[in-house]
Order: sequence, then structure tokens, then C-alpha cells
Amino acid sequence: MSVSPAGSVGSAVADTATGATGATAAAAPDVAADEAFMRLAIEAASLAKAAGEVPVGAVVVKDGQVIATGFNQPIGRHDPTAHAEIAALRAAAGALGNYRLPGCTLYVTLEPCAMCAGAMMHARLARVVFGASDPKTGACGSVVNLFSENKLNHHAELSGGVLAAECGTMLSAFFAERRSQARNGN
Ligand code: ZN
Repeated sequence: MSVSPAGSVGSAVADTATGATGATAAAAPDVAADEAFMRLAIEAASLAKAAGEVPVGAVVVKDGQVIATGFNQPIGRHDPTAHAEIAALRAAAGALGNYRLPGCTLYVTLEPCAMCAGAMMHARLARVVFGASDPKTGACGSVVNLFSENKLNHHAELSGGVLAAECGTMLSAFFAERRSQARNGN
């Protein structure tokens, strides 16, 4: 893994994921608040699951209030861009009447992909918090880390691993169920 000159983005993900981070940073994330908002993202993910979509959910928070929710629904919408994060960003921008979302934090149950990471940068989010890592398409440290790419001009603060076990279990249970259905010819 490359180390960014800023030194904080990539390591913040690793530290949070292992639970090793303490109150070392000047603005240490509020763990209880992060977990509470991640639970709301998990609730949003359950809406995706109910619709037969891969269960990923997201919420956007400003000043301690949820201003938007989104869940994954590319199949139902016939839209490859209909990821939970994009849905939440669109709803938040609509709610604020602003295509940029300064001061906002996005919580999402799965590590964002490159498309969503790009959208987050365009939105000028202050912070991004994700749950489970995505070793296949994760663009926040798993495959690449676009948030530590200094050639890109906006950097949201990044935290990963919040309620990672719960977020990950939801996904693995969904895929196990789908494999079982495939074996049974459904
Ligand atoms: Zn995405």
C-alpha cells in the first residue's frame, strides 16, 4: 500500500478497521454517533435486500441530522449508477438545493466504488464513513484509494470499518442465499 504524503487518509482506514485508533486525532470521530448513523444505513440496506438488490444502504448527515437516505437498486431501476451512495447524494443535494454538500458526512455500509468515490469528490463531502471493505471494487483502500490520491483536488476525511461485521454479514448472507437459490434452480 502506498503512503500518501498527507499520511492520514490511508492509515485512518486501517486504524479504524482494527479498532486500534484512540483519541489521538485532534478531531477524533464520535464513535457512538458514527455507529448510530451506520445503523440507519444498515436499515436502508435492508430496503435494498427486500427489493432483491445487493443490500447496501447509505445516509447523508449534516449538523447531526439525517438529510437523505439511499439504497442500492441498479437492477430494479435498470441503472448501473443506482448505487446507494449516488441515491443518497442526489437526495441530499435536492434537499439542500445545492449540488455541493459541504459539511456533510456520508455513511455507507460497503466501501464505495470508484464511481461513488468520484461523485463524493464532486459533492465536496466533508467526510465519508463506510462499514465493510470491498476487496473487489473498493476505491477507499481495498483496490485503490482515491481519497489518498493527491492529484485529485478534493479530499474528504475517510473512516472505514464502522460496524463492519454487521454490514459484511448482511452482504455475505445475501450472497449465500442467492447461491443456494441458484443451486436449487431458482
Ligand atoms: Zn458505487
